[in-house]
Amino acid sequence: MSISDSGGTRLDPWYGSYAARAHEMRASEIRALFAVASRPEVVSLAGGMPYIGGLPLEELGEMMKRLIVEQGEVALQYGSGQGDEGLRERILDVMALEGITAHPDDVVVTTGSQQALDLVTNIFIDPGDVIVAEAPSYVGALGVFRAREASVVHVPMDADGLIPEQLDETLTRLKAEGRRVKFLYTVPNYHNPAGVSLSLERRPQVLEICKRHGVLILEDNPYGLLGFDREPMPALRSMDSEGVIYLGSFSKTFAPGFRVGWAVAPHAVREKLVLASEAAILSPSNASQLAIRSYLDHHDWQGQIKGFREQYRERRDATISALQEHIPEATWNVPDGGFYVWVKLPEGLDAKSMLPRAITARVAYVAGSAFYIDGSGTDHLRLSFCYPTPDRIREGIRRLASVVDAELET
Ligand code: PMP
Repeated sequence: MSISDSGGTRLDPWYGSYAARAHEMRASEIRALFAVASRPEVVSLAGGMPYIGGLPLEELGEMMKRLIVEQGEVALQYGSGQGDEGLRERILDVMALEGITAHPDDVVVTTGSQQALDLVTNIFIDPGDVIVAEAPSYVGALGVFRAREASVVHVPMDADGLIPEQLDETLTRLKAEGRRVKFLYTVPNYHNPAGVSLSLERRPQVLEICKRHGVLILEDNPYGLLGFDREPMPALRSMDSEGVIYLGSFSKTFAPGFRVGWAVAPHAVREKLVLASEAAILSPSNASQLAIRSYLDHHDWQGQIKGFREQYRERRDATISALQEHIPEATWNVPDGGFYVWVKLPEGLDAKSMLPRAITARVAYVAGSAFYIDGSGTDHLRLSFCYPTPDRIREGIRRLASVVDAELET
């Protein structure tokens, strides 16, 4: 393509040099929003930023200081491509809470579970291969799938998560069309953005269907320990160690700034993941890994998670009661864990076109279209209740109600 071929090219002299896949990359709607949404006068119900204020910052400061002074030789050095062995051992304790038994060798430490999403997609997807994913799906995963030139096919969910019959039908149809399905991408607990969880009854059904169709499952589970009223549900990986790649993260149960997540995969897959990760980043950060190891060893991490669950439950309650009071024309689910409420706007409203007016009214959310590969879902929006205080949430929803009311009048 010559430099003057398209509107965007005059601004970018290298337009014609990009790989085809770079043309598929776009700024996520969330990132585009980030600058405005983070202005102090805006109540941001947009980003899924955990409540860092709930952490014992003084104690963590001391911990970081000790880490550098006492273990600087290791913490500030390159490390193993697969990740620190001591941390991989402790990750087993975290996963045991969801019924997973594994060996430290099965674990690959990554730079957040976001990198794990990219690694899995990198090793499995050739351009045009199909990834089956829930409708809606986590925007960051869709960004990876798009960048790696996958073709995403959505399967609907209801209040109990992914609908097994629809999954079966979709896989059967894709097979009949001769399309190659590489994996099912699913967030079974406190889904981002839908807020729902895959019911206990459905878990073995989803496993059975995927096994029958020869389709691997990518289980992305950053929120599983953040249920408000119940103990964690067994992970899909706890029921099948050969057909599931499991992704975990310390971002929501501890802190995203360390950028530490992990993948647990069948033996041969794990070897490929390590090779792909070494090619991409050499090794995950030793400083972050040792910090997390020290945190797990010396702090009451389970007590901290319990504290987060209580704080987030209070914020969920503030969100739901404010919606009931101020936007009764909308409908929504009541999540029993995680960070998100998925709101369906009153008939005829479009969350995407309404967003600039919401920002002017000093409230931010993410339009539902971000969570569909084809940009549908504009009748929905996602509210994140993790970051603002309950008072700010109530204020944000009051502001949102004024925008919705104005839209309904026009
Ligand atoms: N998966 C899901 C479903 C998420 O919501 C997020 C973060 N919002 C991630 C993966 C990425 O998390 P991280 O890279 O911080 O571990």
